[in-house]
Amino acid sequence: MRNQLKHYINGEWIESTGPETIEVINPATEQVLGEISSGTEEDLEKAVKAARAAFPAYSRSTKEERIQWLKNIVKGYEARKDELIDVMTDELGAPLSVSDEVHYHMGLGHFKQAVESLSDFSFSEDRGGHTLLKESIGVSGLITPWNFPTNQASTKIASAIAAGSPVILKPASKTPFAAMILAEIIDEAGVPKGAFNLVNGSGSVIGNGISSHHDIDFVSFTGSGTVGKKIMKNAAETIKKVALELGGKSPIVVLEDADVEKAAKTAISNIMTNTGQVCSAGTRVFIPQSMKKSFEKTIVDLLPTFPYGDPRKEGIVTGPLVSKDQWDTVQSYIKKGEKEATLLVGGTGKPEGLETGYYAKPTIFTDVSNDSVIAQEEIFGPVTTIITYEDLEDAIEMANDSVYGLAGFVVGKDPETLRHVASSIRSGRIKVNDANTDFNGPFGGYKQSGIGREWGDFGIEEYLEIKSVHGMPSA
Ligand code: NAD
Repeated sequence: MRNQLKHYINGEWIESTGPETIEVINPATEQVLGEISSGTEEDLEKAVKAARAAFPAYSRSTKEERIQWLKNIVKGYEARKDELIDVMTDELGAPLSVSDEVHYHMGLGHFKQAVESLSDFSFSEDRGGHTLLKESIGVSGLITPWNFPTNQASTKIASAIAAGSPVILKPASKTPFAAMILAEIIDEAGVPKGAFNLVNGSGSVIGNGISSHHDIDFVSFTGSGTVGKKIMKNAAETIKKVALELGGKSPIVVLEDADVEKAAKTAISNIMTNTGQVCSAGTRVFIPQSMKKSFEKTIVDLLPTFPYGDPRKEGIVTGPLVSKDQWDTVQSYIKKGEKEATLLVGGTGKPEGLETGYYAKPTIFTDVSNDSVIAQEEIFGPVTTIITYEDLEDAIEMANDSVYGLAGFVVGKDPETLRHVASSIRSGRIKVNDANTDFNGPFGGYKQSGIGREWGDFGIEEYLEIKSVHGMPSA
């Protein structure tokens, strides 16, 4: 049992001031994996005081010092590779290969990128009539979801360190243990005490406490739109800046000249990677009407090439959903889909032989209308929808007919058409033909997918205030 009942405040692991604990469940076994403390307002207060006290010196730390801390974190992170992979497989149910190639790798990528971005970053610029200074925004509250335990925390922490902004991290209580390893790594990296704090607990106490705290200057939140709205409302009371990384229902636009097999693979990997629990997953697949039959056959034929099951078994690429709640939500959407569209493969219930664990059947709906519930709401599971189009401009219009705008995908050959679709989709990140991820590429949403950008130099900017000095004497 992993019982880690302490919070990390002011450079020390300290007891919670309250007796309440939260159980963490292994989604593959449905067994209790361990417990964390459900932090109190008093715990949060201690963390805010520590961050506030660290602020004056930390915000004036040099670029070289920050680069060194980030490099030390990279080293520490690499040294704990096996442990991080193991813990994410336990708490999230991610297959070992996914914990390694996706989760471990992405967390590391953000720290490495921060070293690079910071090396080229300028905190002061002579703009003719004035000097522009970029200064730490102050104490920042970081609230993260469960679906990427290291990626979400790492991108925020790395940017905050690069900017010299002290933080209080509240990880998701479903997946807190990887974040606690991160705290240990940061502790050993020489980051000044009080600059990084971690308080575990519920959204209603710690999350709410962060967004409404008068001594926190900025909240960076990743999670659902429902909670994002609450955070924005709370933050309004103290005119706090908020960055919101919210949900999505991203389109995959398949062009007439696309290779059907490649397009089908893109569609499947979007719902099978991390069991479809990915905010930027492409879950509305727009295909030309003329491709319908061949695409449907190909996608069904290829689905078994993404094996699902026990995350600790060799060769498995898709594990269970994170929790019973998430499983119930996915089931209710599949039920709705069965009424709204044609079920091509999958359906409700657990897959045969996987009765223990929160496993859902990979499910593909076809004959889907873009205005149906399954095409408009984020399902966050291994479920996708196929929507046909006659004319590419209609496909683009439907792709944009969504309250979300986080990501978009386009698959095909003609460069001009690929460019046209990429620039027409109203989303913060577009992938053309499954291009590789660049950790310096800004990540964030248009419309109700959020406010602000993370990753690389844009991520660092979030943790900075802008000051214009007129008449600055030269040094
Ligand atoms: P969630 O909104 O339920 O929880 C996210 C975090 O907010 C958790 O730490 C939770 O404890 C906390 N929280 C809950 N209530 C709160 C409150 N009242 N005040 C402050 N904090 C509170 O989301 P989730 O279920 O953990 O994650 C899934 C959602 O996250 C999906 O909608 C997904 O699309 C989104 N997401 C977005 C991105 C992105 O970068 N855009 C990335 C990953 C996940």
